[in-house]
Amino acid sequence: MRKDAKVLVTGAGGFIGHHLVKYLVRRGYAVRGVDIKAPEYEATEADEFVIADLRKSSECMKATAGIEEVYHLAADMGGIGYISASHAGIAINNTLINAHTLRAARENGVKRFLFSSSACVYPQYLQESPDVVPLREEDAFPAQPEEGYGLEKLYMEKLCQYFMDDWGFVTRVVRFHNVYGPLGTYDGGREKAPAAISRKVAALPDHSEIEIWGDGKQTRSFMYIDDCVEGIFRIMRSDYSAPLNLGTDELVSVDGLVDIICDIAGKTLVKRHDPSRPQGVRGRNSDNSRLRSVLGWEPSTPLRVGLIPTYRWIEEHMAGRSHRPVQTAAE
Ligand code: NAD
Repeated sequence: MRKDAKVLVTGAGGFIGHHLVKYLVRRGYAVRGVDIKAPEYEATEADEFVIADLRKSSECMKATAGIEEVYHLAADMGGIGYISASHAGIAINNTLINAHTLRAARENGVKRFLFSSSACVYPQYLQESPDVVPLREEDAFPAQPEEGYGLEKLYMEKLCQYFMDDWGFVTRVVRFHNVYGPLGTYDGGREKAPAAISRKVAALPDHSEIEIWGDGKQTRSFMYIDDCVEGIFRIMRSDYSAPLNLGTDELVSVDGLVDIICDIAGKTLVKRHDPSRPQGVRGRNSDNSRLRSVLGWEPSTPLRVGLIPTYRWIEEHMAGRSHRPVQTAAE
């Protein structure tokens, strides 16, 4: 594609969208960013940034007018505390955002459309053990996704496929596995484990107690933001249209994650587990076989390496606004 082509990033005020805008601008694309809010931590680099509510069809038509490719990241989302407490709100908001954006993109003659799906589409019954077998794309069916958020993502994946099969509308579907990095939400209730734990560690005095949701044995893999935007771009440019995992297969327990972050912070903390808090599935990991065969590439930043700038950014940002109270958060 021409480098001066006009591309749209929805959710450009959010974590991944904001980083993706920077990546695309640096590659010479003319970028329109759209979101219901501006980026929280620094100014956008988009050529054009539009505040719009993509639940409304008319706003989606305006957002996609004159656009060649859409990176669709806008969504009502958050960590496990948020998504397990808001099934109705998340499902209805994302249904409206996704259906309207997809249809508007097609009606406006967009050439390619990338949908940001999630590992939350995978069946709960395959994720009941901490030493989980890494999830392959075909494992999504028979389906038993995460309630609300995951079920809606799975439906939108199929909608993308139907638009492609029936109408030849070119779509890409990316299943992100937990993404972390600087400029990500770290308080307020929507943050995910790496950011929530970093915030807690930064706020706590050495040798004090840290509260951990669940028994700490639940496992996940985490992808650094630079790998995520690189992967998004490569998948958009590929000729592969079925859903693809985008994550790492470096499995870590939540306790292990706490240990790494404490190490980076130079603090020794005593873990206090709270099993009454939501912890999500017991184990989740990404099988990257298909990603490797399609792209000849996969995310490669080790967790310990990516967590250093992430922790430092959160620590510095908290120090810069130390007048704000540290809130209890989701993980
Ligand atoms: P984020 O919450 O930081 O970004 C999403 C953005 O969508 C927000 O800025 C939000 O304001 C915007 N948005 C919400 N409702 C909107 C509306 N009605 N109109 C316009 N904009 C609206 O989340 P993120 O981590 O950057 O996630 C981006 C995408 O990746 C989402 O689709 C998410 O479901 C998916 N995803 C993320 C992760 C992760 O670990 N971060 C994992 C799996 C999937």
